[in-house]
Amino acid sequence: MKHLLLASTLLLAACSGAETVAETSEPKAASEPTAANQAAPKAAPNTAEAPVKPNITSQDLGGGFYMLLGPGGNIGVSTGADGVYMIDDKFARFGQEIIDVVATLSDKPITYVLNTHHHGDHSGANAEMKAVGATVVAHDNVRSRMGKTYMNQAFGRQQDARDASLWPTLTFSDEMTLWFNGDEVRAIHVPAGHTDGDTIVHFVEANIIHLGDNFFRGMLPFIDVDSGGAIQGMINAQQIAYDLSDANTQIIPGHGALATKADLGESIKRLQAIHDRVKARMDAGESLEAIIAADPLADMTELEGFMKKPNVITATWRSLGGEF
Ligand SMILES: [Zn+2]
Repeated sequence: MKHLLLASTLLLAACSGAETVAETSEPKAASEPTAANQAAPKAAPNTAEAPVKPNITSQDLGGGFYMLLGPGGNIGVSTGADGVYMIDDKFARFGQEIIDVVATLSDKPITYVLNTHHHGDHSGANAEMKAVGATVVAHDNVRSRMGKTYMNQAFGRQQDARDASLWPTLTFSDEMTLWFNGDEVRAIHVPAGHTDGDTIVHFVEANIIHLGDNFFRGMLPFIDVDSGGAIQGMINAQQIAYDLSDANTQIIPGHGALATKADLGESIKRLQAIHDRVKARMDAGESLEAIIAADPLADMTELEGFMKKPNVITATWRSLGGEF
């Protein structure tokens, strides 16, 4: 059973990776998965013989909260008397399906969409959400990064600026609290982790935290150094969420299944191990090539999905000051 679960986790990881590669700056994995289209089927003819399998499904977290699963980053949804507050919105092509799923959860409009960071698998449907009246909220750096063309050194290709229709229109620099649906919703900027524009969102009363891509549950992390990310900041972000949590906290990772504080604790230990192992070899004067060849993450092979061990070692090495 454990192996089955692991296999499905890896498949999910592979899928999200392939989806991501298609539409954002996120890196091309060493062996790009090909299963994405199988796991995320395009609409089939709507006949009795071939029912359409939904791309987007919802998981009830209780108290009017839901997690929306499917290709791209996990979505968090708060429903209630004030409206719908949504965290992330996957890809543009799923915009209408997301709106339709949310309509089955609430008869109120989508009032706010918060982007946990700028990557296209978390902010791709911003234009569609604005079109139905939502205000898109994010850290200042999300807006500035969306407006810039930049070179992704890790993967040797240029990432073009994204259309202004996608940019958030309400941004903040450090922390913002929204009082909504009877909850205190804290949006907390965590510097230089997955990117330099990451927000973790804490629904204080509901005891739910969305970590965005500072948490890839059950798989190796993606640290986007070319967007200002660093492994130390990712560990810090997870530690902040860990300290805000208790045994009952429901933790939504950017990718992977709903998690607990214990899962997050394991992840922090793993990230710290990655950091420490790469740093020890750097301190000993080993080159990046030598470190990769030594396979210091051999015990994490089964966590490879979107990210392979050499990608993670390279990102860690760059986080620690290594330069190409
Ligand atoms: Zn991301």
